[in-house]
Amino acid sequence: MIAYCGLDCSKCDGYLATQADDDDKRAAVAKQWSAQYGADIKPEHINCDGCSSEGRKFFYCSEMCEVRKCAMAKAVPNCAACDDYACDTLEKFFALAPDARTALDALRD
Ligand code: SF4
Ligand code: SF4
Repeated sequence: MIAYCGLDCSKCDGYLATQADDDDKRAAVAKQWSAQYGADIKPEHINCDGCSSEGRKFFYCSEMCEVRKCAMAKAVPNCAACDDYACDTLEKFFALAPDARTALDALRD
């Protein structure tokens, strides 16, 4: 469940609300993410089975995430396997999500 970027999708509130199929949790996550990201995220947007899964995706992760797009284009299982690790795009992301760096560094060891 480690995303291309190093996030652990199994701990993501959106993933947990989806797997529990809990509309109250979806509403809470939508409210929290709307405030956090300055976006109009609705409860019905909170449906995600994880970044690398075949299933449902939160629209930001599937349509807008530059790290995911890049890793898929390079056909790497995640950024830890990329020859350009850690590129500028990933470093910018790590500044917001230091745990993702820790996870990918561990995969590279
Ligand atoms: S891909 Fe889905 S589960 Fe993973 S971080 Fe994004 S919203 Fe959460
Ligand atoms: S170039 Fe950067 S974002 Fe793209 S796969 Fe490599 S490390 Fe990930």
